[in-house]
Amino acid sequence: MGRTSKDKRDVYYRLAKENGWRARSAFKLLQLDKEFQLFQGVTRAVDLCAAPGSWSQVLSQKIGGQGSGHVVAVDLQAMAPLPGVVQIQGDITQLSTAKEIIQHFKGCPADLVVCDGAPDVTGLHDVDEYMQAQLLLAALNIATHVLKPGGCFVAKIFRGRDVTLLYSQLQVFFSSVLCAKPRSSRNSSIDPDFNQLDGPTRIIVPFVTCGDLSSYDSDRSYPLDLEGGSEYKYTPPTQPPISPPYQEACTLKRKGQLAKEIRPQDCPISRVDTFPQ
Ligand code: SAM
Repeated sequence: MGRTSKDKRDVYYRLAKENGWRARSAFKLLQLDKEFQLFQGVTRAVDLCAAPGSWSQVLSQKIGGQGSGHVVAVDLQAMAPLPGVVQIQGDITQLSTAKEIIQHFKGCPADLVVCDGAPDVTGLHDVDEYMQAQLLLAALNIATHVLKPGGCFVAKIFRGRDVTLLYSQLQVFFSSVLCAKPRSSRNSSIDPDFNQLDGPTRIIVPFVTCGDLSSYDSDRSYPLDLEGGSEYKYTPPTQPPISPPYQEACTLKRKGQLAKEIRPQDCPISRVDTFPQ
């Protein structure tokens, strides 16, 4: 894939780089804020599953800018520092991490908890959905300890088959639960068969879309010269991952030690076995 291929496919990725955001996700939080005024009166916030840090950037700018704001960001991965953001590296499903976060807010609860957590996708839909739900529940558990009464909890959710169960769990703690889809989030993760439960266990929450309808559609491709005319110039990512999983491969490649592609004629086994049907 070429250097600009992701820019071509994903307009929000490109705009994030151009606007100095560490990830395209920044637009999701900004669009949610536009709809729900998430940051109004907020001085203390927790960003769970925060790396590479675009939501923390938004929080830092919106509530940390005045110096009185306080943001705690947590992720499995290391994250480059941000002004006004305290970082904790850890697994939010672990008790020790939850305790560390909770300790930060002793006596001074947070106004807002956000969680954009996503597990490493396996491609097995049910497993991915289950893992995502577990992350959301871990975030909810932390939120119940650190959020002030009447505070706001925003979390990414896969609208899969068991979404009803998650809604009912959220409704135990919050008087109002709704599902919002920012225009910058893609449609591809929606399972058309979601919410299959019937009868009294079926829960429907209001569904809201946010972001101008005239704003860019995350499922469309746009030309590289968005303004139509000015020549496209490549912008490098604002914050490349600090220790990406492919780092070892990059080092080996630099040293010319990365395994070369094996051509069939070089392969010691030239016969392909087929299994009986
Ligand atoms: N909101 C972030 C931003 O704007 O830059 C992007 C978050 S990214 C989509 C999902 C993050 O979830 C990854 O950085 C991943 O490391 C984190 N994550 C996944 N499982 C986690 C866990 N158990 N504990 C903490 N972080 C986790």
